[in-house]
Amino acid sequence: MSLGRVSLLRLDRTGGLAPGNKSFKLREYLAQARQSGVQRLVSFGGAWSNHLHALAALGQECGIETVGIVRGDDGEGESAMIADAASWGMRIHRVSRTEYRRRNDIEYQQALREYFAPCLLIPEGGASIAGAQGCAGIGEIIRRVAPQAERIVLPVGTGTTLAGLASSVAADTDIVGISALKGAVDLEQRVERLLAAQGLGSRVRWSIRHDFHCGGFARVNAALREFMLEFEAVQGVQLEPVYTGKMLFAIHQLIKTGQWNAATGLLAIHTGGLQGRRGYPWMN
Ligand SMILES: *Cc1c(COP(=O)(O)O)cnc(C)c1O
Repeated sequence: MSLGRVSLLRLDRTGGLAPGNKSFKLREYLAQARQSGVQRLVSFGGAWSNHLHALAALGQECGIETVGIVRGDDGEGESAMIADAASWGMRIHRVSRTEYRRRNDIEYQQALREYFAPCLLIPEGGASIAGAQGCAGIGEIIRRVAPQAERIVLPVGTGTTLAGLASSVAADTDIVGISALKGAVDLEQRVERLLAAQGLGSRVRWSIRHDFHCGGFARVNAALREFMLEFEAVQGVQLEPVYTGKMLFAIHQLIKTGQWNAATGLLAIHTGGLQGRRGYPWMN
């Protein structure tokens, strides 16, 4: 298995109960709550949401109440991850798929704010300026520990982490996001909006690859499964199939097919998410 000159930034080993990029994404929301004296954080996610998992963990650590609006009210919204969140004190509020679809409606959000008042409502995935600002902390770590990185590669869900990096790494760095979703054609626009909202244009080069979703969000195909099992055996580093597995698979493919030069100094960000392995029996 040739991966060229790839280094891994092991965020999966930071953050205690909330490892990976999620504790960075939630940082500013926690600070906002603290500043305004709000004692309750409310957010959205599916049964395998790393975001809700991290929110529950941080709530427990910081002594702040958390509420998870969970998609699926007929057994679908149950998982080992939601069980963890509940054990850390998160109040689990299950809603139907139909209701969950309204998560970005202003009126629905207002109703939730009133229902759980006083609270701070965090968008799904922590996807807003505050989330991106928190992720600038990842860029600061990179400037410190890997200033020589020519290209930074990371998995992308909402694009919030990518936007935070683009605002904080050295200006001559090339950032490549690997989308975990199939056909998420609005991702670039979302990143641009997050950058513009911080008064930042195209400070760095960044792009998103849409061709390594391996069948769609949280889906796995045979090639990905084979790659991940081999990677873990050879490298002794655990991955999960939703984000980090697809990112390393993409790097491997791009180098193998000659689209990327194996001599370029790559820094791949291991964004965590390993708690989600429990949803994939073949990984355990
Ligand atoms: C949430 C998550 C991502 C995606 O982060 P975005 O900021 O939504 O793009 C990547 N990797 C892991 C492990 C995650 O949990």
